[in-house]
Amino acid sequence: MIQNFKSKVKSFKYLSKDVFEFVLELIEPDCIDFKAGQYVTIKIPHEDEKPLFRAYSVASSPLNNKELLFWVKHIKIGEGSKRLAQLKIGDEVMLRGPMGEFILRENSDRDLLFVAGGTGIAPFHSMIDYIQRKGIKKNINVYFGLKNRNDFFCEDCIENLIRIYPNIKFNLCLSRENGNVDMDYRKGRVTKALDEDFKEFKNFDAYICGGKEFIEDVENLLISKGQEKENIFYEKYY
Ligand SMILES: Cc1cc2nc3c(=O)[nH]c(=O)nc-3n(C[C@H](O)[C@H](O)[C@H](O)COP(=O)(O)OP(=O)(O)OC[C@H]3O[C@@H](n4cnc5c(N)ncnc54)[C@H](O)[C@@H]3O)c2cc1C
Repeated sequence: MIQNFKSKVKSFKYLSKDVFEFVLELIEPDCIDFKAGQYVTIKIPHEDEKPLFRAYSVASSPLNNKELLFWVKHIKIGEGSKRLAQLKIGDEVMLRGPMGEFILRENSDRDLLFVAGGTGIAPFHSMIDYIQRKGIKKNINVYFGLKNRNDFFCEDCIENLIRIYPNIKFNLCLSRENGNVDMDYRKGRVTKALDEDFKEFKNFDAYICGGKEFIEDVENLLISKGQEKENIFYEKYY
């Protein structure tokens, strides 16, 4: 059921030069029932102007329903993310949710292909954490597209999941990295890595999250290699 919530900022920090994370602790009601992959709409206040409303995927697991983790890209030309970047611990934040159909098809027996661009990794972090804690036995292939190694904002969280959940194959795809860096990565875009790794995708449920062009490029590749449209699910951020 979609509800309005009052919350307060429990923590806030930058994870990379342009992605910050914050945790909202729910006050009233003090818990939310949501599914891994869903989003909420945050009311972003401003002293002088009208409030803005922006959608953000919950990055944390629904098994903790008292607080919500978000990963947000600070967009230089974006009024909403610019205001959110000024949040302080203890600030009150109103939100509405949960919303969205970008959720796990738990009855499917196919393995999982998670393809994310930028902060589009957020719903997958929630899903993987949920799958792991529920003991759901599925192979998970993650392809995560960023530009450079320094953009890998959620490194600690992802490493943590990989360490405790052996069925994850994680591929960091860096489209603009040239030099040697201190970690394994795939050079180029996610579509290149996917194309190299798979002849076909028919054994997967494919979930894609990111910008419009990113989703289209990945979807076109999957379809060109025989994936059924009905087994492709996506969340478009912009
Ligand atoms: C269902 C849903 C869930 C979302 N979840 C997240 C999330 O978890 N984290 C997050 O950072 N954003 C998320 N977004 C995007 C978010 O709602 C805002 O659009 C974003 O924060 C930009 O708002 P803004 O007011 O700063 O900029 P705007 O003025 O609204 O947009 C400025 C421009 O920024 C670009 N843009 C928007 N979002 C992004 C992005 N994430 N990365 C790169 N460029 C972008 C677009 O080209 C847009 O034209 C989600 C969007 C939807 C629809």
